[in-house]
Amino acid sequence: MLMCRGLAEIASDYIDGELSHRQNLTVKMHLMMCKDCRTFIGNLRASSNLLSAHSSGKADEEFLRRINERVAEALNDRQNKGSDSE
Ligand SMILES: [Zn+2]
Repeated sequence: MLMCRGLAEIASDYIDGELSHRQNLTVKMHLMMCKDCRTFIGNLRASSNLLSAHSSGKADEEFLRRINERVAEALNDRQNKGSDSE
């Protein structure tokens, strides 16, 4: 049976539709049982849609700036949480 880790390895191929019919079926069966992987695939699909939407046009500076802000916020968040727990 496919485990979460194995699914993560082929997730991007699954989204791109590059898996064999059998692999595709295995992924679908796992997703039916595993909520974590459904969330994972959902997030991956959303970000891959964003990327392909933006790679077709010229670089969207506003979009990149927002991503950088998100990353900076997440890093700050983690640092704050880390210092709180000490
Ligand atoms: Zn899973």
